[in-house]
Amino acid sequence: MATRVIPPRILKNIRYNTATATTTATTKPLNYAHPSIISSSVVPQPSLYDKANQKPPSTTVNPPLLKFDDAEKLFAPVSTSKLLRSTAVIHATAMGPMVDFGMWIMKSKLVQKGVLKDLVMASIKKTFYENFCAGEDAADAGRSIRWLNDVGLRGMLVYGVEDAHDNEGCDRNLKGFIHTVDVSTSLPYNSVSFVIVKITAICPMKLLERMSDLLRWQQKDPSLILPWKQDSLPIFAESSPLYHTQKRPNPLTPEEESDLELANQRLLELCQKCVQANIPLLVDAEHTTVQPAIDYFTYSSAIIHNKDENPIVFGTIQTYLKDAKERLLLTAKAAEKMRVPMGYKLVRGAYMSLESKLAQSLGYASPIHNTIHATHKCFNDCSSFMLHKIANGPGNVVLATHNVESGKLAAAKAHELGIGKVNHKLEFAQLYGMSEGLSFGLSNAGFQVSKYMPFGPVDMVIPYLLRRAEENRGLLAASGFDRQLMRKELGRRLKAAVF
Ligand SMILES: Cc1cc2nc3c(=O)[nH]c(=O)nc-3n(C[C@H](O)[C@H](O)[C@H](O)COP(=O)(O)OP(=O)(O)OC[C@H]3O[C@@H](n4cnc5c(N)ncnc54)[C@H](O)[C@@H]3O)c2cc1C
Repeated sequence: MATRVIPPRILKNIRYNTATATTTATTKPLNYAHPSIISSSVVPQPSLYDKANQKPPSTTVNPPLLKFDDAEKLFAPVSTSKLLRSTAVIHATAMGPMVDFGMWIMKSKLVQKGVLKDLVMASIKKTFYENFCAGEDAADAGRSIRWLNDVGLRGMLVYGVEDAHDNEGCDRNLKGFIHTVDVSTSLPYNSVSFVIVKITAICPMKLLERMSDLLRWQQKDPSLILPWKQDSLPIFAESSPLYHTQKRPNPLTPEEESDLELANQRLLELCQKCVQANIPLLVDAEHTTVQPAIDYFTYSSAIIHNKDENPIVFGTIQTYLKDAKERLLLTAKAAEKMRVPMGYKLVRGAYMSLESKLAQSLGYASPIHNTIHATHKCFNDCSSFMLHKIANGPGNVVLATHNVESGKLAAAKAHELGIGKVNHKLEFAQLYGMSEGLSFGLSNAGFQVSKYMPFGPVDMVIPYLLRRAEENRGLLAASGFDRQLMRKELGRRLKAAVF
């Protein structure tokens, strides 16, 4: 991101610049927001980090940066047919029984063969798939990205594969990721902000579990030598849970070591491709059973490829985890000491029920914050930390959220600190087909915004759609703000057509 020249189209959209930002700047923490932009769903408290940085609040009352009151302006780039489909799909996915029914169909034998299969596939394609996915192949994805680009947004291209269990599957998936980089370079310059990789698709799951066990045990017992371990940043903090590994694991077998070498080679090839194309690679986060190994791969690659001010490999921090903030601070400090510019994507996290069930089955407390409020606070604190960091030094941050309050808080903070499109260190991101109001609101205020866009044939992407439905049940139900905005604009267009 940092090395890319800002295209005139984006410059044209800048609604503020560092000069105006400085004149209106106060040093309120991220958790400060004008009362008009705080709702009762998020009542942020000053954190330890914020207390340390807090200065007296300014008496100036700034108008809110993000404006959602004019739905006509917000949805102007969206055609009525697209808005109708989106509204219908988002409303359907907000209803628990509809989600259950859709998931039952997608998992059932109906999608395996026969005439019914074609019928079911066609309806999935016309509804969920077209709303949440960028297309079946590179050409489709390209068209979706061009549309996004025309309306001022960018795309994060996600080759829609799920976990791999053997080397053949990993090799196949790698080809898909490499192809994704090729697709990105063939599209208009700067229209793809990131290529996404799932480490679970290029390293067999079993091996990721074994490596995570060994890394956890080394954290418990630093005398354990891991001969395969390269330079990395800290993977655990004092508060990190280690309960997944109950007894000392055996070392990797020669076969496992050779599989690890293959996985290293795959990631190296992908990173080199991204360096050549100058497109950052964003590593998705998964559940805690395998996340230590994913962080290990991410950080060891970042040490090799992230140079000067330009992070190529980005990691993901899930702020619903109790140890997230401590880990972020620790890792960022170590990266700074090693002069490795680090980029992070901050998310809340998508494996809540899985994490709680696993911890409970082993007799431990959930690693997830006890309340949703604590998760919101952790996300906002981590955003604040990263925004301060990138305002004053190297590093980048992607704030991946649909939460309107977090978006408003971060936008206000970035504005105060003079961070925006001008320095390319901050990107907001939402899933394709979700939270269009927030995406356009942020973009209209002058920020870089990307949509996370999976692509691939319908049957290949079904597991992705299932995961989204399952993991985001709460999220989809919480998309009320979005639904309300879309309904308002559809109503307005209907009236305009009739009268
Ligand atoms: C671009 C992008 C990339 C993403 N990449 C990843 C990834 O790599 N890995 C990953 O795990 N997820 C990823 N996600 C999904 C993300 O983690 C969230 O599941 C999703 O975005 C919802 O969070 P939100 O910030 O949008 O906030 P909100 O809309 O406010 O969602 C809040 C939801 O958080 C959940 N929640 C979290 N903590 C608690 C708690 N303590 N108590 C109760 N509920 C809680 C609930 O389901 C709740 O509905 C990504 C999301 C986006 C937009």
